[in-house]
Amino acid sequence: MTTPQHFDVLIVGSGAAGLSLALRLPSHYRCAVLSKGDLAAGSTFWAQGGMAAVLHDRDSVDAHVSDTLIAGAGLCHKPAVRFTVSHSREVVNWLVGQGVDFDYRADIPDPEFREFHLTMEGGHSHRRIIHAADRTGRAISEVLTRRAKEAGNIELLTDRCAVDLITDHGGESGDRRCIGAYVLNTRSHQVEAIGAKAVVMATGGASKAYLYTSNPDGASGDGIAIAWRAGCRVANLEFNQFHPTCLYHPAAKSFLITEALRGEGAHLLLPDGERFMERFDHRGELAPRDVVARAIDHEMKRLGLECVYLDISHRPAEFIQSHFPTVYERCLSFGIDITKERIPVVPAAHYTCGGVVVDQHGSSDLPGLYVIGETACTGLHGANRMASNSLLECFVYAASAAEHITQHHDDAPVSDLLPWDESRVRISDEDVVIQYNWQALRRLMWDYVGIVRSDRRLNFAREALALMQEEVAGYYGRFQITRPLLELRNLAQVAALTVECAINRKESRGLHFNRDYSETSSKAQDSILIPDNTVLPSVVEESADGLAQNMFLRLPEYKD
Ligand SMILES: Cc1cc2nc3c(=O)[nH]c(=O)nc-3n(C[C@H](O)[C@H](O)[C@H](O)COP(=O)(O)OP(=O)(O)OC[C@H]3O[C@@H](n4cnc5c(N)ncnc54)[C@H](O)[C@@H]3O)c2cc1C
Repeated sequence: MTTPQHFDVLIVGSGAAGLSLALRLPSHYRCAVLSKGDLAAGSTFWAQGGMAAVLHDRDSVDAHVSDTLIAGAGLCHKPAVRFTVSHSREVVNWLVGQGVDFDYRADIPDPEFREFHLTMEGGHSHRRIIHAADRTGRAISEVLTRRAKEAGNIELLTDRCAVDLITDHGGESGDRRCIGAYVLNTRSHQVEAIGAKAVVMATGGASKAYLYTSNPDGASGDGIAIAWRAGCRVANLEFNQFHPTCLYHPAAKSFLITEALRGEGAHLLLPDGERFMERFDHRGELAPRDVVARAIDHEMKRLGLECVYLDISHRPAEFIQSHFPTVYERCLSFGIDITKERIPVVPAAHYTCGGVVVDQHGSSDLPGLYVIGETACTGLHGANRMASNSLLECFVYAASAAEHITQHHDDAPVSDLLPWDESRVRISDEDVVIQYNWQALRRLMWDYVGIVRSDRRLNFAREALALMQEEVAGYYGRFQITRPLLELRNLAQVAALTVECAINRKESRGLHFNRDYSETSSKAQDSILIPDNTVLPSVVEESADGLAQNMFLRLPEYKD
């Protein structure tokens, strides 16, 4: 048994959200940043395209807000969108101050007048994507990691998998609050208890619930499942964004072909060379991701194809190599020269738009627990994330949460932690159960809760997932925990919540398309789920249409 450790702030996740929050905290705060694998194990490292920001004179906050609202299909929360977008320039300045080397326009060599090189992506009405070639995530991740290592107050704990939160009743008037987390050290196989005045979940998304995904292996929705089990609301989990173009090659695992290729003129083609996007949307290849992914899915099903093709070979080879070095080199390693050949692509699960319900400070329902980055549902993305808004969201809410933590948890009491009890479990001799259920779950979600859904398939998925969750819970109660078991338990939970959100939505909107309800309802409503162990009081009030409604079925209001 290990001795509990205590920090001022415990941050679960070392991606854009977690690391930037750690770096925004005052330097006298002792904080721990956990990562399941190495520090670059999350999605952040893999982000290619860049980050949306209002930087050009011809662009404006209003235009960025408007584009985001259109992409979000009526479900974005305008205050959240404006809050995020209006902080974009400050975030860019902060990142540049940390040392991130974004690309500048090559045609303005004078350093005094230099301007960032901005790219265009689907849904954006202006060039506003700041980037470091097509390795933006890597550039950000490396700089933030270096800064965190240099900081004397940040302890970086790798190979740690958060299991569950620790709560007590020490909050205002005896309310339940978060005081730490149990964490599996996957090197020593011990479960450590870590206490903190504030805990931050920044564990990324849950796209690993799908058979095909652009996300790294750890994207198993841990933070969403952990927060739900601790009594927090979750919302809008039915909005899974499928990236239209992942490399289709037997040896290429999860390799995404950035949307910026389409921004720079790449065409989507059927095997016979026909461009098909114009048949689905007047914006052609620059239509929002959901439209492009559904069009590809439609054509693949209609023609029984294994993939479609993306072709940028009509642009000069030098341009392709300098703008898309990662895509060029990676494809070349699979024998595809994208300066001469078209790229075989398929859609894949890419981004989790929903998540744990939070306010403008990343505060969740559970006092002391903050949730930021892809794990959170801030209201920014609505029913569909606009490309490159997600990194921006990570940085904006990390800054806001850091400020709130500093103001509200500085003198929080340090609580005693009960050690993890392993007295009634033994080492498993049936790991096959985990293997089998991992595969079954991801196939089930792909086939029944994928790009196009129906009530029958969703109800089938609900029943299958209930059985799976029962089996996993039995296994969890009997055997010593491992990372694959924890991830499966979390994935099964998030998949079940996703299906619940999808079943509740009796319409098609944004990324959620149910062929039994192909129309979009005139009233946009979030799908908010409240756990049985919620910390919220039951407050029912009359809504505008005269119906009694639990007021917690709405996202939090923003304050000026
Ligand atoms: C291939 C790809 C390309 C993308 N391109 C772009 C882009 O161009 N622009 C854009 O805006 N967005 C892009 N995105 C989305 C964006 O990268 C992510 O939304 C964002 O990086 C998420 O950051 P995060 O900090 O929330 O989580 P992540 O970066 O995913 O980090 C999650 C962290 O949590 C840790 N973790 C998870 N579970 C646990 C646990 N139980 N215990 C301990 N640690 C845990 C992980 O180890 C990791 O350190 C892309 C995503 C992918 C996959």
